[in-house]
Amino acid sequence: MGEFELIARHFTRPSLPDSAVVLGVGDDGALLQPTPGHQLVISTDMLVEGRHFFAGAEPETLGHKALAVNLSDLAAMGARPLGFTLALALPVADDAWLAAFARGLFALADAHGCPLVGGDTTRGPLNLCITVFGEVRPGRALRRDAAHAGDELWLSGCTGEARLALALRRGEAWATGDVAAVADRMDRPTPRLALGQALAATPGVHAALDVSDGLLGDLGHILRASHLGAEIDLSSIPVAPALRGLAPEHQRDCLLAGGDDYELLFTAEAAAHDAVLAAGRMAGVAVTRIGRLTLEQGLHVRDAQGQAIHATVRGFDHFAD
Ligand code: ADP
Ligand code: MG
Repeated sequence: MGEFELIARHFTRPSLPDSAVVLGVGDDGALLQPTPGHQLVISTDMLVEGRHFFAGAEPETLGHKALAVNLSDLAAMGARPLGFTLALALPVADDAWLAAFARGLFALADAHGCPLVGGDTTRGPLNLCITVFGEVRPGRALRRDAAHAGDELWLSGCTGEARLALALRRGEAWATGDVAAVADRMDRPTPRLALGQALAATPGVHAALDVSDGLLGDLGHILRASHLGAEIDLSSIPVAPALRGLAPEHQRDCLLAGGDDYELLFTAEAAAHDAVLAAGRMAGVAVTRIGRLTLEQGLHVRDAQGQAIHATVRGFDHFAD
């Protein structure tokens, strides 16, 4: 199977009705028609074998995850997806692998009306790079630098299950439970697109990001960009059932520093509290107030007794020692 046959067989599909795509796969470039007056949102994420997923990982799962982590970035901007490109490096053109990969990829793409509009295909160590294109109303994007002092800090869903799944797979001694109960949280993250768009349309919602490298580390990005600090009330963070049997310090690490959650962490003025709850209901996702933003810089995490817990705002850094 040659490069062009591979693209035609696995990555060329009939165009979706009502999509922004004027011209898709097959020309030198794609043509997208955003809604007049809207701003484009563009984001890229790469998944590298051995770094972001295990060698030999299931291809259908990879197809889902490669797109999901990108759609999660659009969700965190409050954007509506328009389309995506796929740059693929493959060691071999394995038809069964590609078919399964495409199945996982397009199931998620179709669920969100986000068509594949182009890409690049080359031989090389397995590497999946997706760029997503979305749109927002001008001024409505949920930026990291837009938090205000006094904002409430909110989290969608719950954190830590993906970290537990990783630990169970690696056989880390502290991890207990059934990997099957949490595997999907690691392998098949759910991009919170409906919530992101509902929040972007809610007056008083200010800043957001998606939690990929741990709640505290990612919160640090909002704090630095907005020149603010935060207080987090540990006991208000929801604990998924799978985490309830863990020793307290490990449970806390999962909640605060586990990666790969792809939940939204966002800030909104207190007057928007009920509107935020309504946005969560509309999107079908639980949203929980877990703290607040402060003019004073620094991050303070308190336990149920009000005692300070030592915490750092360092998330996962691929190039840290
Ligand atoms: P060019 O040489 O003009 O860059 P290519 O030969 O790389 O074009 O690709 C041919 C067409 O197939 C282009 O429209 C490109 O966007 C598309 N394409 C290539 N690889 C992929 C892929 N993995 N998924 C979707 N479209 C792809
Ligand atoms: Mg090319």
